[in-house]
Amino acid sequence: MDTTVQRLEDRMLAGGLTTARSIDRWSDLHADEVGPRHGAQAVARLWDRPDPAAVHAPGLRRCPCGRRWRLLHDSTAVRNTVVPTAGTCTGWRVLGIPPSRYGPHDVDRGPETHLRFWSDTTTVHHLVVPVRPERSADRGLFDLAALVSRAAMRGVGTPSVPGRDDPTATGPPWAQRFPGYRLDERAIDQPWELRTVALVLAGVEDRPELGERVGVELDRIAARLPIRSSIYTAWLWALARATH
Ligand SMILES: [Zn+2]
Ligand SMILES: [Zn+2]
Repeated sequence: MDTTVQRLEDRMLAGGLTTARSIDRWSDLHADEVGPRHGAQAVARLWDRPDPAAVHAPGLRRCPCGRRWRLLHDSTAVRNTVVPTAGTCTGWRVLGIPPSRYGPHDVDRGPETHLRFWSDTTTVHHLVVPVRPERSADRGLFDLAALVSRAAMRGVGTPSVPGRDDPTATGPPWAQRFPGYRLDERAIDQPWELRTVALVLAGVEDRPELGERVGVELDRIAARLPIRSSIYTAWLWALARATH
């Protein structure tokens, strides 16, 4: 994958579509957001086949720190929040990098909702299973996983609702329509993914006429991705087609 990205970058630079400085600037902007989607995939599976009695997450292995993953099931009556513990493993390989805006005041709830607060122990990490969003009935596993925000897996904020404006988003407004670019959806797990994001943002910023074409190709390719794919595979293909 790295060589594919490199070839595309070389082609864009040779064609004068963007500059190395522009690509690096976008890369730096998102470099601290690297994180995988294993927790989101586990939540999507549980939304798809609910099991309120499940204690351990399907498909989640022990964290490299040695802790096991314990599930906390939200309901309309109970909201769980995992309070960060300073100086210990954050479980980022499953949950992604913790959101920078983080605190109990982020919990939004009705007056009848009970809040439960948890901290990781020496043997256990927690994964909150949020209530499945409305209007998600016809979604496949990949789409469901994309709705699970990093914040929601810690019990702050709510799962993303498709199309809802997110005032906390960083990055250019024109890129928010690209799947996988809203702040809570971002899951840049590998160097090639970060480079691909930077290439798309640099290319569309320097050649705004590319934006529409990239967006259309992205939507089309993303709709057919299997659940374990990286959304940034679609970014790479979409950019390659738009700049061909
Ligand atoms: Zn991974
Ligand atoms: Zn851990």
